[in-house]
Amino acid sequence: MHAKLLAIRDQVQARNPGEVEFHQAVDEVFESLGPVMERHPEYVEAAVLERLCEPERQIIFRVPWTDDSGHVQINRGFRVEYNSALGPYKGGLRFHPSVYLGIVKFLGFEQIFKNALTGMPIGGGKGGSDFDPRGRSDAEVMRFCQSFMTELYRHIGEYTDVPAGDIGVGGREIGYLFGQYKRITNRYESGVLTGKGLGWGGSLVRPEATGYGTVLFANEMAKTRGGSFDGKRVIVSGSGNVAIYAMQKAQQLGAVVLACSDSDGYVVDEAGIDIELVRQIKEVERGRLKEYAERRGSAVYVAGGSVWDVDAEVALPCATQNELGEAAAVRLVNAGVKVVAEGANMPCTPEAVTVFQKAGVLFAPGKAANAGGVATSALEMQQNASRDSWTFEHTEQRLTEIMVGIHDRCAETAELYGQPGNYVLGANVAGFVKVAEAMLAQGLV
Ligand code: NDP
Repeated sequence: MHAKLLAIRDQVQARNPGEVEFHQAVDEVFESLGPVMERHPEYVEAAVLERLCEPERQIIFRVPWTDDSGHVQINRGFRVEYNSALGPYKGGLRFHPSVYLGIVKFLGFEQIFKNALTGMPIGGGKGGSDFDPRGRSDAEVMRFCQSFMTELYRHIGEYTDVPAGDIGVGGREIGYLFGQYKRITNRYESGVLTGKGLGWGGSLVRPEATGYGTVLFANEMAKTRGGSFDGKRVIVSGSGNVAIYAMQKAQQLGAVVLACSDSDGYVVDEAGIDIELVRQIKEVERGRLKEYAERRGSAVYVAGGSVWDVDAEVALPCATQNELGEAAAVRLVNAGVKVVAEGANMPCTPEAVTVFQKAGVLFAPGKAANAGGVATSALEMQQNASRDSWTFEHTEQRLTEIMVGIHDRCAETAELYGQPGNYVLGANVAGFVKVAEAMLAQGLV
């Protein structure tokens, strides 16, 4: 790492002790920025990086609620408003027991560059809670969401900060959050949240966008070597929002999706994953993936195993951070993997990324590959602002153009910096330069 960057990195670690995921995300970006610092001494002069690493605002709050048996529960809520150089803070809310400040900051930091790459006018932010929706009734989830929004509402707004979903926050939670925001503020402010239901301000293609976008990006990478998804064996981790629609788009492009997972295990289905069945079990019934194999003869369920043990040409990690380590990467390379695209945020460890890059695998980092979700959220904001709603075809066309644009921007930037095919460098540098230029123009704020 460049000496100046190393010094800033050490400072970041000292100021934010124990936030290991945040440190990892900063390191990953800094590893790419050495040549940028050489070309742009004005960024060093204006302390752009030091400023970027310090969120503009961090909000931590108590979320009290009562469960169905009348017991009081206390969770912790977070919103990190990271950077608003390009637009209102934008990024999802995650409800998962593992959530703490270090996770929210890693996600918020990544979000700044991801949002810049989309070319849309959105800044970076992220939030969430250590609340675990698993096993909770609808009424409990509603009471939790209402309590969460009772504090959050004062910090957000269509021109200030626009949250969306992430792990554990889907259409149901966005509905409860929006309802409470509307009730407290007495405003039907559609643009304050994205991922809304179709009948009340949501956008077609938003549910599909992250997964579809990941596959569209991977397909663009494959094309650079004359390849495609047609006939390829694909494995996907997770079985949530991103995973389901990544599998759907891969199948639409002619691939055979062999396996997917949840946090308890994975299923292999040699006949190709039946996506409607996964959706029914996971999204509608809120059940476990184990039930998939119980209902489908061609499938086998492996409890506690790793989906990365299945041989494939394309691997799409779509579950959570650091879920694909060095050993799994080596195994996948030996099994002939050619394309890896991160649908999740930072699912591959730095060691795994190095293995893929050294082996010449086409590797797409999450901040580029999964940017289709937030880009379509920005399209939802556009529709809300103009009180319009677009067709599925038009919106998907926009998403496709955006993903091709992000791919090309990353590829061109990597080439400009002498590392053709290095999408990690391309994404980090292209995203960073866009934000740095805006920060310089806006002065020391
Ligand atoms: P969901 O909650 O819909 O699904 C998450 C999936 O990952 C589930 O199958 C879940 O399994 C699994 N999972 C979650 N945590 C763990 C864990 N600790 N270990 C193993 N498996 C786990 O979330 P999304 O699909 O929305 O998000 C997935 C990833 O994509 C996240 O990294 C998110 O930040 C990223 N992302 C999401 C976007 C979106 O638009 N939704 C946009 C951009 C990025 P189980 O059911 O067992 O919990």
